[in-house]
Amino acid sequence: MRSPWFDGDWADTQSYGCTDFLEEGPNPHHPECEAFHDGIDLALDCGTAVYCPLEATCVQVGVNGGGPFALILDVGGWWVWLLHLEDAYVQPGQQVPAGALVGRSGTLGLSTGCHLHFEVTPAGGGYRDSVDPSGWLSSPLAALSAAVLPPWWGLSSLPAMPRE
Ligand SMILES: [Zn+2]
Repeated sequence: MRSPWFDGDWADTQSYGCTDFLEEGPNPHHPECEAFHDGIDLALDCGTAVYCPLEATCVQVGVNGGGPFALILDVGGWWVWLLHLEDAYVQPGQQVPAGALVGRSGTLGLSTGCHLHFEVTPAGGGYRDSVDPSGWLSSPLAALSAAVLPPWWGLSSLPAMPRE
């Protein structure tokens, strides 16, 4: 797929939600699934430019399991997680203008090949607090406008190590 978050046209190799790939582990918000994938994996070649299409604030560089250049960007009260990057061009606390080049995709952290793990959580959430990021990937401005907090938000927050 194409997306304003990156250059090129890439396959979605693992979608969001219940997965047969048991190494992803369970998500307590989705007890109906034996294992749950909290983002969308896209087969970006290592070195592919990754952008932030909306104005944002850089929250964190480096995520456990996501590698030392993984980014968490706050976009209007939602956190966008860009994992396995091989380089990052923003710093924690930095304001990021819409359309800025923020990094390059890679395969660092818990990863078996070049890909981008794209995830969205409410601001302050952990890896397992994900919401379906499909709309954010294709039409981020529309997704931000339509975003509503999940029913379980505020009841529990259970950060966990990313598995991929
Ligand atoms: Zn993933």
